[in-house]
Amino acid sequence: MEKYFPPKHKKDSYHCPHCNVYARQDWNELGHAAYIFIPYRGLESSKCEYCTKFSLWLDKVMIFPEKTLAPNPHEDLPIELIDDYLEAASIVTKSPRGAAAILRLILQKLMVHLGESGKDINKDIGSLVQKGLHPHVQ
Ligand SMILES: [Zn+2]
Repeated sequence: MEKYFPPKHKKDSYHCPHCNVYARQDWNELGHAAYIFIPYRGLESSKCEYCTKFSLWLDKVMIFPEKTLAPNPHEDLPIELIDDYLEAASIVTKSPRGAAAILRLILQKLMVHLGESGKDINKDIGSLVQKGLHPHVQ
């Protein structure tokens, strides 16, 4: 299973926040080019080698594209569910109910990934508990 590598300051490669492809990033400190003067030292850009879109970083924190309050996807989340998770994360502050609906869909897909039917979440989770999942998770 492929892993998800979230954007990290000065990392050579990570999953791009624009295209979500694991790609090399070209880092540049802004404010040094002849055509631009920014009297602030902590502004940097990273450019995705795959989609060529920029991300902006201020004091080692990504400020563009807009960051969400949601945590990064868990490292065990199947890669095919990452896009759904990031979509939920991107709307959670504007539409918490919309994000919850997407998270429920992810849970349904996760049940199929774990060998359950994916048709009835309650039954599937109950089945997982019978197979050894801690009842607290239920
Ligand atoms: Zn990209």
